Amino acid sequence: MNLQKYNGDISKIDFLDLMMLDISGNIHHVSIPKGYISKKIFNEGIGFDASNFGFAHVNKSDMVAIPDMDTAFLEIKDEFNILHVLCNVEDPFTGNIFEQYPRNIVKLTQKYLKDNNIADDAKMLVELEMYVFDNVEYSTSEDHSYYSLESEEGLGDNYNLSPRMGLKKGYHGLYPKEKYFSFRNNVVSTLEKANIPVKYHHHEVGLAQLEIELNFMSLLKVADNVSLAKWIIKNIANEMGLYVTFMPKPMYKMPGNGMHVHQFLEKNGESIFTGDALHGLSETALYYTCGLLDHSLTGSLLAFTNPSTNSFRRLVPGYEAPISATFAKGSRSAAIRIPGYLKGKDIRIEYRTGDATANIYYMASAMVLAGVDGINKKESPVDKGYHSAEEKSDMIFPLNLEKVLEGLEKDKEYLLKVFPEGLIKDWIKLKKEEAAYVYNAPTPQEFELYF
Ligand code: GLN
Ligand code: MG
Ligand code: MG
Ligand code: MG
Repeated sequence: MNLQKYNGDISKIDFLDLMMLDISGNIHHVSIPKGYISKKIFNEGIGFDASNFGFAHVNKSDMVAIPDMDTAFLEIKDEFNILHVLCNVEDPFTGNIFEQYPRNIVKLTQKYLKDNNIADDAKMLVELEMYVFDNVEYSTSEDHSYYSLESEEGLGDNYNLSPRMGLKKGYHGLYPKEKYFSFRNNVVSTLEKANIPVKYHHHEVGLAQLEIELNFMSLLKVADNVSLAKWIIKNIANEMGLYVTFMPKPMYKMPGNGMHVHQFLEKNGESIFTGDALHGLSETALYYTCGLLDHSLTGSLLAFTNPSTNSFRRLVPGYEAPISATFAKGSRSAAIRIPGYLKGKDIRIEYRTGDATANIYYMASAMVLAGVDGINKKESPVDKGYHSAEEKSDMIFPLNLEKVLEGLEKDKEYLLKVFPEGLIKDWIKLKKEEAAYVYNAPTPQEFELYF
């Protein structure tokens, strides 16, 4: 994928590619040819049918997408210059922003922080975990049983001569044993050309599981860049004959893909999460932590951070994925980890529960609103029994999609400061349909057990 920074010269553009987000956070697009690119499109945008994007307003479905030139980057594809740009969405009848639109939810959350003098912005760093399937790693072996339950610790009797790193021994593995160093380099240099800053990349614990950590950004940039990064990664994989999935648990008994989010609130250019209340955190950071854990425990927040049936196949003990409302320094089974190696003004918290089936715009906003609710309530997460490096049996999250949706129905007050009630309704409806589709269908495992 040949991406380049955009220097503002519209005369060189062959196609203006307007990108919009649906309710799930997927990107859609419409491309405008050179001859039709005009000032009018930049100012007034183009119309589209929002009801097809999962926002349920069929009688008022016409919305207008207006390019946000802050997000523009160039792609050279088949000798054409394509200018990609994410759009804002407005309601043409009122001229107001369409409040349910993912980018608008984030902007309203940022506004809420400012208007209430809580913070100027929230800063987040997102870790993207993914598996690569290349049709080689899993199929060259004569004997497929090495990837069965019996031999999960290694190759067993399978002396296939191709080098292997073991199913769960890949953490920070080195080439040539791991085969995706070039892929990750290609991805990361391309992301940087799209103005997406990256902290680092490495092989993860699972075989052919990779991680790319983006860097800290302000809330809207985080959500835009996570969405674009997932798309860019899949495109580069496609060009190299690979398939990438971010799904939380693609394979039984293999480590899952999380989407950990490091976060802090910022005021006057400084973090308000550093202090000396506990582990280098301020009182505010502890209240925020309490809010995140409170609303995770009701299920409500998980309905936005872990919003798929597959999410809950990842949240099981034994794979560095949390299952209970806990926080601790340096613990990788805690829902919130305070990174052990940070000092002073770099201190922040890492929410480890979420995964990439989330709509990152809604997830980021919901986390901030849960944290802010904690700040308003001023309750100590230590007094509430959340401080623990071990999983806590009396603090287990609701661990399936239907339960967390029930949690959202009951515990949504804190979200309504920004989320329109209609969006929460649409979300629950969509997710209940997904749950029914998955849970009502017989599975191969049921055939094995009950045929
Ligand atoms: N893959 C783990 C998860 O599901 C995280 C492992 C790690 O980052 N050390 O969250
Ligand atoms: Mg990481
Ligand atoms: Mg990781
Ligand atoms: Mg992490």
